[in-house]
Amino acid sequence: MTQQASQQKKVVVVGAGWAGLGATYHLAKQGYDVTLLEAGSEPGGLVAGWRTTAGRAIEVGIHGFWYPYRNIFSLINELEIDPFTHWSCSCQYSPAGLEVESPVFQYLPRLPSPLGTFVYTRFHRLPLIDRLSALPLLYAVIDFDNSDEAWRRYDFITARELFKDFGVSARLYQESFEPMLLVGLFAPGEQCSAAATLGMLYFFILAHQPNFDVVWCRGTVGEKIFRPWVKRIQQAGGKLLTNKRVTDVIVDSEQRVTGVVCNQEVFAADAVIFAVGITGMKKIIASSANLQIREQFRNLTNLGAIDVLATRLWFDRKINIPHPSNACFGFDKTTGWTFFDLNALHDEYKNEPGTVVEVDFYHANQFLPLLTSCTWKYKCQNHNYVQG
Ligand SMILES: Cc1cc2nc3c(=O)[nH]c(=O)nc-3n(C[C@H](O)[C@H](O)[C@H](O)COP(=O)(O)OP(=O)(O)OC[C@H]3O[C@@H](n4cnc5c(N)ncnc54)[C@H](O)[C@@H]3O)c2cc1C
Repeated sequence: MTQQASQQKKVVVVGAGWAGLGATYHLAKQGYDVTLLEAGSEPGGLVAGWRTTAGRAIEVGIHGFWYPYRNIFSLINELEIDPFTHWSCSCQYSPAGLEVESPVFQYLPRLPSPLGTFVYTRFHRLPLIDRLSALPLLYAVIDFDNSDEAWRRYDFITARELFKDFGVSARLYQESFEPMLLVGLFAPGEQCSAAATLGMLYFFILAHQPNFDVVWCRGTVGEKIFRPWVKRIQQAGGKLLTNKRVTDVIVDSEQRVTGVVCNQEVFAADAVIFAVGITGMKKIIASSANLQIREQFRNLTNLGAIDVLATRLWFDRKINIPHPSNACFGFDKTTGWTFFDLNALHDEYKNEPGTVVEVDFYHANQFLPLLTSCTWKYKCQNHNYVQG
């Protein structure tokens, strides 16, 4: 569509997280008349972040940006900002101690994929025989080409079944693959589709040697990335309106959308993009007679959210944390967690007298009833998120 033609089209984007900001930015650059409606008081969604009354920065989890996040890296270049740390290695702990150290793979001699991942990852306890039991799985990884057909083929079975069928040893599953699922797909293998699992393995680990390399935001994503991004969106002509909770859409007699409703207010639209999580989408469908009559929207209500618990801890003295970013397994059967040394990652905590640690628990349903003494509770869109 030409710039002139696109300017006549009004697009409303619902939800100002990564997805909604991304859609708005691209449409505004192409000349669409685009309005982004956000229910909250700030853009950013799950990762918006905020400051406590004492001025301490908080956000929902720390945010890693892996080597294959090309769109985000090119956005950073476009915005001419410098929000990230250097490439960092990742470690994994069990109750027995340090289990796995992944180096920065791109700094090591390139081997044919996925050999580099296997050769350079340092396992401290897992026997070689268990590691070798992953080899038959390569057939499935190669066979899974991300096509619709491949998704259908592998979506029939769970990740647990996939690993079992391909002969992955019980120990390798428990100490490597399941922990990865718990922090990568936020659920244990019995609840994950084999297709989603293969997609994740391919994307983060197997396609190219450096894919598991990661950088971290040197502060909150809200301040370091979203603030300059929103400015750029506005310069490109995009409108961002906060405190606008969408409750319905309006359609004409030909079933084309003509508007978006925020309680009593109506925004004219030729097209609508919903960039909200599942919990938010379910709420919109529940309040919208026009969406409820459409099967594809009704079917969405079968989807569920996953509970995540994010905590930020300030210690009054220094704790020696060997590596800044770490995942943990084996402490609780169905919950994976990560912890990060923010003194090493965030500029503003570099000179703190004590240690600042971010600890996030994924698939943390069973911890939530313990939160009665917490200061506040905040439910988000696709992850029910609670900060203590
Ligand atoms: C603890 C934690 C750690 C994470 N760490 C990482 C990481 O290291 N790396 C990584 O890549 N990802 C990470 N993620 C995932 C990542 O944060 C999310 O995938 C991403 O932020 C989702 O963005 P989104 O735009 O899809 O949705 P959201 O951020 O949920 O945005 C949706 C927006 O829609 C708005 N909304 C909802 N309903 C309405 C309505 N009716 N009207 C108007 N607006 C509405 C909401 O207020 C919200 O602002 C992490 C997530 C968590 C919880």
